[in-house]
Amino acid sequence: MAIPIPSRQLFINGDWAEPLLKKRIPIINPTTEEIIGDIPAATAEDVDVAVQAARSALTRNKGKDWAFASGAVRAKYLRAIAAKIKERKPVLAKLETVDCGKPLSESEADMDDVVGCFEYYADLAEGLDAKQKAPISLPMKTFKSYVIKEPIGVVALIVPWNYPLLMATWKVAPALAAGCAAILKPSELASVYALHLLASVFMLLSHLTCLELGEVCREVDLPAGVLNILPGLGPEAGASLASHPHVDKISFTGSTVTAVKIMTAAAQRVKPVTLELGGKGPIVVFEDVDIDKAVEWTIFGCFYTNGQICSATSRLIVHESIAAEFLDRLVKWSENIKISDPLEEGCKLGPIVSRGQYEKVMNFISNAKSEGATILYGGNRPKHLKKGFFVEPTIITDVTTSMQIWREEVFGPVLCVKTFTTEEEAIELANDTHYGLGGAVVSKDRERCDRVSKLLQNGAVWVNCSQPCFCQAPFGGTKWSGFGRELGEWGLESYLSVKQVTEYVSDEQW
Ligand code: NAD
Repeated sequence: MAIPIPSRQLFINGDWAEPLLKKRIPIINPTTEEIIGDIPAATAEDVDVAVQAARSALTRNKGKDWAFASGAVRAKYLRAIAAKIKERKPVLAKLETVDCGKPLSESEADMDDVVGCFEYYADLAEGLDAKQKAPISLPMKTFKSYVIKEPIGVVALIVPWNYPLLMATWKVAPALAAGCAAILKPSELASVYALHLLASVFMLLSHLTCLELGEVCREVDLPAGVLNILPGLGPEAGASLASHPHVDKISFTGSTVTAVKIMTAAAQRVKPVTLELGGKGPIVVFEDVDIDKAVEWTIFGCFYTNGQICSATSRLIVHESIAAEFLDRLVKWSENIKISDPLEEGCKLGPIVSRGQYEKVMNFISNAKSEGATILYGGNRPKHLKKGFFVEPTIITDVTTSMQIWREEVFGPVLCVKTFTTEEEAIELANDTHYGLGGAVVSKDRERCDRVSKLLQNGAVWVNCSQPCFCQAPFGGTKWSGFGRELGEWGLESYLSVKQVTEYVSDEQW
């Protein structure tokens, strides 16, 4: 099924703009390994223009525009964006799948979440109006104080490739609801293979749906400059945004390595940052579970989105008394996972996003083998597929806590397994990681679930499930998984600055 790939430019100041240095880069479909189009690549020069456009969107029209508009006005635009995305869902979902390889049913679910997220922040934008000038109770009657919440200003939103439009929406919707003007920088992926062989060719992905958001903004007449969309290379477009003197905040989702660079740049100008980073999540399965249900959540928690989820529960910690049967059924379930072209009906596992990522995942598997672990299931390219960056769902046992496969984020469909005897041991294993994004506990014992939830060092804990994510609930990590929270009211707050106004209200001289 050929999907027409729209040819777009950068989206700056409400319109399409050719990159000033005219750079364009090919896009590779990870299923067919074919070049399917190209996209523009922004450089520092374009970043400058976009930041200027964003800044003037905040102050244009004598202060009556975006930042000072009522929440109700901003909500109207957010709802219009949601409605347009809903209309375009079939096309957007297909573009997402062709671009990053996730099964079509998952891309469709992502588009529903995108719509829900814009609608949710429209409601919160309206709610902001009522919260303005909230009085503060003071110990002295001679003074009155109240609080105003104001947009932080121009924000840079830097996102990864695993949920291109959804990750962008988690930032764009609250930022716009708060009254900020934004520059969205979608991800690029430079194929390691291509870089080595053909130094000048980069292969970029995961821009397509983000660029379509630009077209949606045009259609709903979003005031010019409120949202600018600049695909480009991380060290070029991303780094220019992070260090730009007129960017007031950076919200970043991506790897811990890049986060360190972004924090370093932000520190030079004392800019606030929100960081959503990687993970190596545990799923702790106790002996009292319904094994089939627990197996299903284990599979979902690690293999959904082809295993390319930051909060994936990719370390299974299972009670030793049920381990043999659990693994047996886990293998049977894995055998039934349909691996195919992600556009095909019933596909449950598509290709890894790029050749570079595919090679990274395969290296993790071969390192695990050479460190003495056992590949219980998978570990190879599926034989029935001749093209594409596919990796079988992989289950690894005989793992020690010093092995790379236990310690590092794979970002692919690879589950490693350890057993435990006591609850204390399970918690110790679960927390034995630098990361702290998502974690799960599975047990019929409610009190035990509450106890374990409290002790897991994660920003999100799932009980008797893994991965469900709602835009009303806060999302973010501890330790190397970052800080700050997205989604819910916490997501909105992260784009607001709090100002106190205090007035002397006595007739007496101070
Ligand atoms: P990445 O860090 O390589 O890139 C993320 C973004 O940062 C991209 O847009 C990239 O262009 C940009 N970038 C790269 N170098 C930069 C620089 N020097 N300055 C500014 N920007 C720069 O990550 P990735 O490979 O795109 O994504 C995978 C990672 O993201 C994984 O570690 C995953 O766990 C994490 N992730 C986290 C969440 C979350 O919510 N916590 C969600 C999805 C992905």
